[in-house]
Amino acid sequence: MFKKLALVGIGLIGSSIARAARAHGLAETIAITTRRPETLAEAEALGLGDIYTLEAADAVRNADLVILCTPVGAYGPVMADIREALMPGAILSDVGSVKGYVQKLLAPLVPRGVHLIPAHPIAGTEHSGPAAGFAELFIGRWCVLTPAPGTDPIAVDRLTSFWETMGSNVEAMDAEHHDRVLAITSHVPHLIAYNIVGTVADLEAATKSEVIKFSASGFRDFTRIAASDPVMWRDVFLTNRDAVLDMLGRFLEDLSRLQRFVRDGDGPAMEALFSRTRAIRRSIINAGQETSAPDFGRPHASEPALDVNVEPSQPLREHGGGDDA
Ligand code: NAP
Repeated sequence: MFKKLALVGIGLIGSSIARAARAHGLAETIAITTRRPETLAEAEALGLGDIYTLEAADAVRNADLVILCTPVGAYGPVMADIREALMPGAILSDVGSVKGYVQKLLAPLVPRGVHLIPAHPIAGTEHSGPAAGFAELFIGRWCVLTPAPGTDPIAVDRLTSFWETMGSNVEAMDAEHHDRVLAITSHVPHLIAYNIVGTVADLEAATKSEVIKFSASGFRDFTRIAASDPVMWRDVFLTNRDAVLDMLGRFLEDLSRLQRFVRDGDGPAMEALFSRTRAIRRSIINAGQETSAPDFGRPHASEPALDVNVEPSQPLREHGGGDDA
């Protein structure tokens, strides 16, 4: 339990934390700050917190847990606003989809006595803003913590409990390792979706309207992913460039190989590959990271909330278009 939780940014992820923290009594007081007055007013109308302010420094003052929930590209200016107000002993964390860049940016700026523990909940949807969040978002999803060696273990334990209480499975790893794993599981897939939907966007009008009219499920799935927040994803590719380029290189080599199978009419090679990929899909479902239920089996406003004590194997959906991003 924290005395004061400060959320800097109150979109999909920030508002989901606010809802889940409130539902589980994880903070006595929740302070919310964001950039635009309209967003702050929306958060207040939704009753997401106890304190609402456009002054980020006021929100984080006396907070024992501060979580940055803005796009990663905003962290620099945000830190300039809040660093003087951070309380010694506080935990400073975030939810950004990239971790090496965050560690390098924040570590030198963190005042002595403040515990920096970057985090990434691998959970989300393609929707944005305070109204898009829901308390069950993190249930059964992984949250990766990337504390630097030597980080206070008690602080790491406290943050681990915070995420576990909201329903996450928590794992700690090195920030660079996180970025390589997420490059292939999330970042490159988003790049591919943006590209294929972009190709359709560039088709001549008559063909484009037919693609939309006869849209098959493969393309529709790509459009959901490609509807993810443009600013957030811009920042992911600006800040995880090396790992994304490395994985993209491998992907392009494999795509060329597949192109050859098609050109050569090599049925057995295609069938062998598609059988291997089908097995991966099955193992993801077996690991509880996907379900065939609509919207990954998540409850929504009008439906009863899920039991937050579900086992990790409970079939729930990964964060959708933003799959984590
Ligand atoms: P979101 O719904 O678009 O919300 C972003 C929030 O950040 C809004 O409150 C916005 O405030 C604020 N913000 C944006 N630019 C800002 C700036 N320059 N300075 C200060 N505040 C700013 O985004 P989200 O999906 O919650 O994503 C937030 C973070 O979570 C990102 O770092 C992302 O990488 C990470 N993440 C996202 C997902 C996902 O699926 N979406 C999953 C895991 C992690 P205003 O409205 O006031 O401008």
